[in-house]
Amino acid sequence: MSIQITHLGSGSRGNATLLSSNGTNVLVDCGFSTRQTEKRLGILGVEPTSIDAVFVTHHHKDHSGSALRSSKSWGSSLHCNLETAIRMGWSPTDDCKTFGNLDMVEVSSSLSMLAIPVPHDDADNVAIIASDRGGDRAAIVTDLGEATHDLISHLRGCGHISIEANYDHSKLFNGPYPDSLKRRISGRGGHLSNKQTSQILREICNENLSSLVLCHLSEKNNAPHIAESEVLMAIGEGFTGEISISKQSGPEFIHWTGQSEPGKVVAA
Ligand SMILES: [Zn+2]
Ligand SMILES: [Zn+2]
Repeated sequence: MSIQITHLGSGSRGNATLLSSNGTNVLVDCGFSTRQTEKRLGILGVEPTSIDAVFVTHHHKDHSGSALRSSKSWGSSLHCNLETAIRMGWSPTDDCKTFGNLDMVEVSSSLSMLAIPVPHDDADNVAIIASDRGGDRAAIVTDLGEATHDLISHLRGCGHISIEANYDHSKLFNGPYPDSLKRRISGRGGHLSNKQTSQILREICNENLSSLVLCHLSEKNNAPHIAESEVLMAIGEGFTGEISISKQSGPEFIHWTGQSEPGKVVAA
């Protein structure tokens, strides 16, 4: 058995990632409209009503967008932490189920989700690590200003990691954003730079890690080739798998834990 990971799209205009194992389907974040999400699932040949659960990492619109509406219309359970529920105005009894920090939520006997708190501005954000019955693990990590000790130690056991590489430091600081926004993006509660992502990956890279996706790239302050080359330089020969970049429009490729090469998405 393995976990299948497919980014439906990633970036400041919307995020959603499909994680599947042995017939269980979970969407991590639901930042596109219901219609757009259904269209992207349709490309994969996945029925929206087959989504068992939707996990929302934090309340920012590019992650939470249509989560309530979509989960209700598909009959999926909706999961988030209490702060996210409060910020979204979701009832923790009627609309969603809340999890605590480092809680393991069992969606089915095939797939469980672990929520790890990460620092992000004005939001109680979490990274999600999925594990299947065979012990395979896949991580989805976006929107954080820096990595924590908990996150680093949990990432070490993952066969697949999707992690944000939001901005290139010199592009951000030489770019058009006002100084206050530059400071916010690069601060402890902002986003990870290519350099920070590279340092995290260098620290955790081991032979169990077979695939990597860089995601949530800023369209203004980053470029795929810059992010990829900085990460490759940092992790060097310690990583023998492939690095992919998830863009705003997707899905483009499918990863499986235990397999380094992704499969290309061909319209169903
Ligand atoms: Zn975001
Ligand atoms: Zn955010």
